[in-house]
Amino acid sequence: MQALSSDVRVLANQRLGSGCFLLSFERAGLVFQTGQYLSLRVPGSREQREYSIYSGEAEAQLTVLVKEVDGGLVSQRLAGLLPGDLIHVDGPFGYFTLEPARVTGKPLLFLATGTGISPFHSFVATRPDLEYTLLHGVREVADLALSCGFAPGRVITCVSRENGGTFHGRLTKRLVTMPISPETHAFLCGNCDMIYEAFDLLRAEGVSSDQIYTEVYF
Ligand SMILES: Cc1cc2nc3c(=O)[nH]c(=O)nc-3n(C[C@H](O)[C@H](O)[C@H](O)COP(=O)(O)OP(=O)(O)OC[C@H]3O[C@@H](n4cnc5c(N)ncnc54)[C@H](O)[C@@H]3O)c2cc1C
Repeated sequence: MQALSSDVRVLANQRLGSGCFLLSFERAGLVFQTGQYLSLRVPGSREQREYSIYSGEAEAQLTVLVKEVDGGLVSQRLAGLLPGDLIHVDGPFGYFTLEPARVTGKPLLFLATGTGISPFHSFVATRPDLEYTLLHGVREVADLALSCGFAPGRVITCVSRENGGTFHGRLTKRLVTMPISPETHAFLCGNCDMIYEAFDLLRAEGVSSDQIYTEVYF
């Protein structure tokens, strides 16, 4: 695996949804497995944070999807980067990956809140043949833009604070109404409250804990 710990050039910074942005930068030979994350910082600053890779394994550049957190130290700095600026990249890290034993012939359920959709975007960009159901929870209708790039028939969008999407309410409220096979392999990513609640719901449906993979953002 070709890891990276260096400054690279930003290639694009594009707003998406309400307060999110897609930041693309040079790949510089980095090799990663879909589902892994990078640690990023702006050169000259000390603070660095983790961001899941949004782009597919075969893409020429690396992209991350970031929410600009109010008062957030690193996300605000990243939001201000322009093409040509430098960004420091360490990685890749993490085990939230599509191992063949996890996915071959298994019903796949992807659960994401907000920018937690990022590793799933990378999964699907890397493996367009993948059969899955994705539940994506967002607060506002504007954030439905985050689920672009997925086959519409595979995505259930849950909007909690406004009317819109496939379902009005929290992701876990929709999950509880779904038939879940105990054979399911479930990938959960984003806010810890959703992850704890969904984990318990899946266990109650007979899904073994070693078939539930989690990536907690905050
Ligand atoms: C493995 C991993 C992968 C991650 N991948 C992503 C990713 O792909 N995209 C992404 O946007 N973030 C991701 N995060 C979260 C990210 O690392 C930062 O925590 C986030 O950007 C806030 O950093 P900050 O320095 O701006 O805010 P800070 O100054 O560190 O903290 C401000 C406050 O914001 C809260 N917070 C953190 N994230 C959010 C959020 N999304 N929404 C609301 N409040 C939040 C924190 O709990 C804290 O209280 C990931 C975290 C981990 C551990």
